[in-house]
Amino acid sequence: MIMRKRAEELEKMRRAGRVVGETLQILQAAVKPGVTTQELDEIAEREIRARGAVPSFKGYRGFPATICTSINSEIVHGIPGQRALKAGDLIKLDCGAIVEGYHGDSAVTVPVGEVSQEALKLIETTDRSLQAGIAEAKAGNRIHDIGAAVQTTAEGAGFSVVREYVGHGIGRALHEDPPVPNYGKPGTGLKLEPGLVIAIEPMVNIGTFETRLLPDGWTVVTADGALSAHFEHTIAITENGPEVLTAVPA
Ligand code: MG
Ligand code: MG
Repeated sequence: MIMRKRAEELEKMRRAGRVVGETLQILQAAVKPGVTTQELDEIAEREIRARGAVPSFKGYRGFPATICTSINSEIVHGIPGQRALKAGDLIKLDCGAIVEGYHGDSAVTVPVGEVSQEALKLIETTDRSLQAGIAEAKAGNRIHDIGAAVQTTAEGAGFSVVREYVGHGIGRALHEDPPVPNYGKPGTGLKLEPGLVIAIEPMVNIGTFETRLLPDGWTVVTADGALSAHFEHTIAITENGPEVLTAVPA
């Protein structure tokens, strides 16, 4: 069932989105060689709770931490731990927070120290594919207009988009209908209407789009071991175009 949000619900989602955006900004600034993913997780939980919010992911289907930290060929859902970041790594930080029962969800990919030209191109392309998807998130368009824009951007740079994990509706639940794939045929699928709130989250790989699940039951990696990047925002469809709820105003 598709849940369109009322004005007062959107207001809570703006606040949740703001908490997530601010927390990710602080985490990005903390990324450097030698920092462990556990330390980043502790910062995230502290910053979310300091803002009167609650981590979305901790305890979600048994997930043990506040953020997902996925390094290099890890695509999504990596579990924070004692692993220390090294110069040349790509780390994906995925963060969610709840304010008055409503979720915000956003992710960024951050280079650790100096990284390869190819890694920089992957990050830039994935971010640009998210922006292209957001630009299609407007009333009257169809859900696959978003995925088509993401896919065209990513494949246009010679990369692939993950099929097995997709974006989603969001609200009182972290994952609601509709699914928001990062691929598809333009002009098809659910019609977008004001009040719909979705998380758009391209996962873009240098090599194959195929994935594999590690034995921890959470961490998703590329099947060929090549690099992956991930960006995500929570977006409200409004009468006046897409509103990015997880962006931090400059
Ligand atoms: Mg997320
Ligand atoms: Mg998400």
